[in-house]
Amino acid sequence: MELQEKITILSGAARYDASCASSGCSNDTPRGGMGNTSQGGICHSWADDGRCISLLKILLSNDCRYDCAYCVNRSSNPVPRASFTAREVVDLTMEFYRRNYIEGLFLSSAVNVSPDHTMEAMVQVAEILRNEERFGGYIHLKVIPGSSPELVRRAGLAADRISVNIELPSSESLKRLAPQKSKEAILAPMKLIGAESGMSLVERRKSRKAPRFAPAGQSTQMIIGASPETDLQILRLSQGLYSRMNLKRVYYSAFVPVNEDNRLPVLAAPPLLREHRLYQADWLLRFYGFSAEEILSDDAPNLDESFDPKTAWALRNPGFFPVEVNRADYATLLRVPGIGVTSARRIIAARRFAPISPEGMKKIGVVMKRARYFITCSGRPFERVDQQPARLRQRLLLGDGSEPKLPRQLVLPGLG
Ligand code: SF4
Repeated sequence: MELQEKITILSGAARYDASCASSGCSNDTPRGGMGNTSQGGICHSWADDGRCISLLKILLSNDCRYDCAYCVNRSSNPVPRASFTAREVVDLTMEFYRRNYIEGLFLSSAVNVSPDHTMEAMVQVAEILRNEERFGGYIHLKVIPGSSPELVRRAGLAADRISVNIELPSSESLKRLAPQKSKEAILAPMKLIGAESGMSLVERRKSRKAPRFAPAGQSTQMIIGASPETDLQILRLSQGLYSRMNLKRVYYSAFVPVNEDNRLPVLAAPPLLREHRLYQADWLLRFYGFSAEEILSDDAPNLDESFDPKTAWALRNPGFFPVEVNRADYATLLRVPGIGVTSARRIIAARRFAPISPEGMKKIGVVMKRARYFITCSGRPFERVDQQPARLRQRLLLGDGSEPKLPRQLVLPGLG
């Protein structure tokens, strides 16, 4: 098969993977080498469907021996099949890099022959790039569940980021929709990566010459909407992954119906609004000190479509407000809709010199059209603070306090 034909098949087959962001990593370019992951070398760009396109994003093979219900590459689908050799992927990466088309490589694969057979070839790609081509650009490798620990270790030593897709939010759904994968085969490499990353950090504190293991950390991807789990179950899972496996990111990927299969739900469009809300809630878990149980409850286990999760929390907790911006601590300020990490820090810094005035709040970057219902400034409210929750909800929705537009379900081009 011609190389061009392989590229067409294997780059097209990779487009459903959302977990390719490259942030948070800097590499030392080897002497005489090329490429880097600093701001100038890696830039993020996004396709119109929201996926990152700054890396050469490609599958090593789409010739899969597994038959996951939701996947376009499953063995029972009559799609054209192709596989690269390791050398072909290396040459493509270097060629595209030299032409300034890409800043790095995101390499995933179907399970071709066996997990170890596939993983060995993927690791070879990264090792040849690093050791023979002296490539200092960003490399993200997907780990095939069921790969041997030694291959996972080699992957971590060659790549900037490695990730294992958790695929579905529960082991029951995994059994039903991806019966050849198991929870154990997915969690074992995740645990190993977490442990090796931790050890590498300790060793590098002792000596800068100690090898780096996946310096941009590990991430995972979860398909949303192909199985019946609630948002609360999904957020609890993410919370556990962040705290126990030391994950950098969980990516939520709205289920795109590409196969007819009676195990799958029939959807008019991918649940992209739900994906968006989960990313917002995930942000609250990672940076705003919220727990999954604060964002959702067993009585209301799904995210509000009309409001972002922080505004929804504020509406459910009127007793927490109003917050006095000239006295509240950082954690309390972060709970106010319209106040983000940057504006909370600026408030704390600015009020050391003088109390912040209502005009000062806007200058600091607070989104007043939302915050105004939840704060006082030196005791003065911006709005009546005794508004009934239903009325406040209505004002936020219909007035200028909600998000710029009422969120609508988004539709992927060509799939609407
Ligand atoms: S293992 Fe499953 S999800 Fe991965 S390529 Fe094969 S069929 Fe698709």
